Amino acid sequence: MVSSMSVRNLFVSYHGNEALHDISFTIGQGKLVGIIGPNGAGKSTLLKALLELIPRDKGDIQIFGKPIKEVRKKIAYIPQRSDMDWTFPITVLDTVLLGTYPGLGVFRRPKKKHREWSYHCLEKVGMEKYSERQIGELSGGQQQRVFLARALVQEAELFCLDEPFVGIDVTSEETIIKILKELRDAGKTVFVVHHDLSKASTYFNELILLNKELIDVGPVERVFRPEIMMKAYEAQLPFLNANEVIV
Ligand code: ADP
Ligand code: MG
Repeated sequence: MVSSMSVRNLFVSYHGNEALHDISFTIGQGKLVGIIGPNGAGKSTLLKALLELIPRDKGDIQIFGKPIKEVRKKIAYIPQRSDMDWTFPITVLDTVLLGTYPGLGVFRRPKKKHREWSYHCLEKVGMEKYSERQIGELSGGQQQRVFLARALVQEAELFCLDEPFVGIDVTSEETIIKILKELRDAGKTVFVVHHDLSKASTYFNELILLNKELIDVGPVERVFRPEIMMKAYEAQLPFLNANEVIV
């Protein structure tokens, strides 16, 4: 089977400051993958570089065995909430409908079937009652669920979410992780940037452990061990005993 993501010798810098150094990994399809590491480790940078939302200095990236420009329609991306503009006046349903636009073609307005499909995806995340609300009026967890609905509308093969669980309520978090696991079970690939270690071992199959360099990548049972996790986190947790990393 073709891998979902294959990265060779990726280097990324901002104004001459290196953020990612020589990252290489391959991830199969049908995986729920956590990109983990301390604050400033380059997690968001990695996700953006993989999707060519920011330029790279060097490196080769293939998604489903192809350059990203050939598979862009198969990819849904949900940025970090703090990166989004919440003052933009748009309703919940219209936000979700935006996800159908790649399938619409230029100059074509959404049809009834697009509206119905969007509404159905809002039902999946439990947000249909809010369809006419302004997106800026929702709580963080509700906004995150709406953005997941927009990603579902796209019927993507690869889902990329940046810190979806930060600052959200328990119901929203449970709804989102349940849907991400369903997507994985349906053979989709899901990348989630995540910095909270307490859930990492129950949420993900595979981990990409990062701290500017790739510390480790592989099945969660192998990577989520104190001696490996410490390599990424020790600078931030200098007094922590290695056995206490896993909570
Ligand atoms: P993480 O998501 O793991 O917290 P980031 O990928 O956001 O880390 O950042 C990695 C490093 O790159 C940090 O040192 C950060 O300050 C820097 N960085 C991120 N975005 C920019 C930017 N737009 N311009 C300059 N430096 C940036
Ligand atoms: Mg980040």
